[in-house]
Amino acid sequence: MKSRKIGVLAFHGDVIEHIEVTQRAAKNLHIDIEVVSVRTKESLQNLDALIIPGGESTTLHKLCEREGMWEKMKKIKNIFGTCAGAIMLAKVIHHKTLGQKTLELMDIEIDRNAYGRQTESFDKDVKTSLGNIHAVFIRAPRIKRVGKEVKILARNEGETIACEQKIGNYYYLAACFHPELSSTLFHEYFIKKVYQM
Ligand code: GLN
Repeated sequence: MKSRKIGVLAFHGDVIEHIEVTQRAAKNLHIDIEVVSVRTKESLQNLDALIIPGGESTTLHKLCEREGMWEKMKKIKNIFGTCAGAIMLAKVIHHKTLGQKTLELMDIEIDRNAYGRQTESFDKDVKTSLGNIHAVFIRAPRIKRVGKEVKILARNEGETIACEQKIGNYYYLAACFHPELSSTLFHEYFIKKVYQM
C-alpha cells in the first residue's frame, strides 16, 4: 500500500507545533502518516495533503514564489490553512501588501490584521461543529464573506472563524485561529477528510 504523507509548509510560524499535533492526531486515529517539512518544490511531490501554518502571509507568499512552489501548491488535493495559511487559501484579501498574492483556492473573502495590532490578540473557548476548542487568535484575519459552496464550521460573535470547501476532488479547510496550540481536534478532522475515514 502507498504510504501516507502530509506536508507542513516549513518556512516560519508554528511549524513544529503543526508537525507534532498532526503526528498525535494520526496516533489517536490509529493510522500511520509520515509528516514532512516542506521548503522546496520537490518536497511537494507525493503529498496527500499540505498544512499551511500561521505566520506572515506576505512572507509565506514571497518565499513560496522564490522557491518556485506556487503553481504546484495550487494542485495539492487537500490543504489546511491556519491564520496566515487561511489568508493564503482565500480568493480575495483586504489590506494586502503591494504585490501580495494568495493561492485563490477557497471562495472566501478575508481581511488581514482585522482585529488590530499584535496587542489586540486574544484567546477564548469557542464551539465548533467539530467540538469545543480553546481558540488562540494572533493578529488574526477576519473572514468577511463565504461563498455558497463553503461550509461554516465555527463562528465567533456571528463571524465565520473556521470553514471548509470541497471542489470536486479538492478539499480545503481554513481557520482564523491557531488550532495547533490547543488540541488535535482540527488535525484529526482534516486527516479524516484526507483519507476519507
Ligand atoms: N497577520 C498575519 C498575516 O497577515 C497572520 C497572523 C498569523 O498567522 N497568526 O499574514
